[in-house]
Amino acid sequence: MNWDEIIAVIEAAVAPHRGEGHVADYIPALAAVDPMKFGFAVALGNGDTHCLGDADERFSIQSISKVFTLSMALRKVGDALWDRVGREPSGSAFNSIVQLEHEHGIPRNPLINAGAIVVTDHLVDQVGSGPMITELLRRLRVLSGDDTIDVDQVVAASESRAGARNRAMAHFMQSFGNLRNPVEDTLAAYFSHCAIAMTCRQLARAALFLAFDGRDPISGEQMVTSQACRRINAVMISCGHYDNSGDFTYRIGLPGKSGVGGGVLVVAPRYGAVAVWSPGLNKAGTSMVGGIALESLVKITGWSVFV
Ligand code: GLU
Repeated sequence: MNWDEIIAVIEAAVAPHRGEGHVADYIPALAAVDPMKFGFAVALGNGDTHCLGDADERFSIQSISKVFTLSMALRKVGDALWDRVGREPSGSAFNSIVQLEHEHGIPRNPLINAGAIVVTDHLVDQVGSGPMITELLRRLRVLSGDDTIDVDQVVAASESRAGARNRAMAHFMQSFGNLRNPVEDTLAAYFSHCAIAMTCRQLARAALFLAFDGRDPISGEQMVTSQACRRINAVMISCGHYDNSGDFTYRIGLPGKSGVGGGVLVVAPRYGAVAVWSPGLNKAGTSMVGGIALESLVKITGWSVFV
């Protein structure tokens, strides 16, 4: 099949399901998004991109940002990162606090909220809250070739106002000595990176380095070491989708990360990166229609890492 045919099969597979799932409403600014939206983009190593639907509409990338902050943290602090955050699936909800008590304030992995807050804390430590976001935005803008990629301040403010649970986790980790900066400084940076708005086309393009050993195949720039790249993919395939990470890997067989804005980013090593967006979520917080689109893609392409 050529790409036009593949895209047509995916379009047909999702059509009967459009609008399924529940739009996240615990962040009020996200509740207003139209559940019928659907975007899909595949970025390939040769620079080609194949898109479908609302692939050029920006959405709130939410937890997908955690893949980029993890990349940045591994670049800046290396293995010292793992002293303060684990790399095991949590089997719990993305915003669960219970494990933190038993595990002495060390979050299970960097892709759940508590773990991502620790990663952000490391980066705030290294460069400061504002400069960290500036650096992250600069990289995303260069990678996806759009200087206007930015934090959606309305979403960031909405999440901060509704952020009692993330604040509770941050204070709790602070009580175990696992937060170095004032809670509000770290959370300001965390809410900002979660509120970055990007399109599927941009997101797939920006993540391409993860499919090519840490090297962006278009610019040739080594974004992370090849070892770090393998590790990021390993953490994504085991921990990228909250308490449905196992099911996601069973169905799709690729490293990926879901966000409660309805985006899912997936990496197909040696082939490319894929971003899909459909705001309706399943119970665990992964896009319902996004999952269906990705299942259809891997069925046709055979891109599962288990092939
Ligand atoms: N900013 C969201 C939160 O902290 C991210 C959740 C997600 O996308 O998984 O709750």
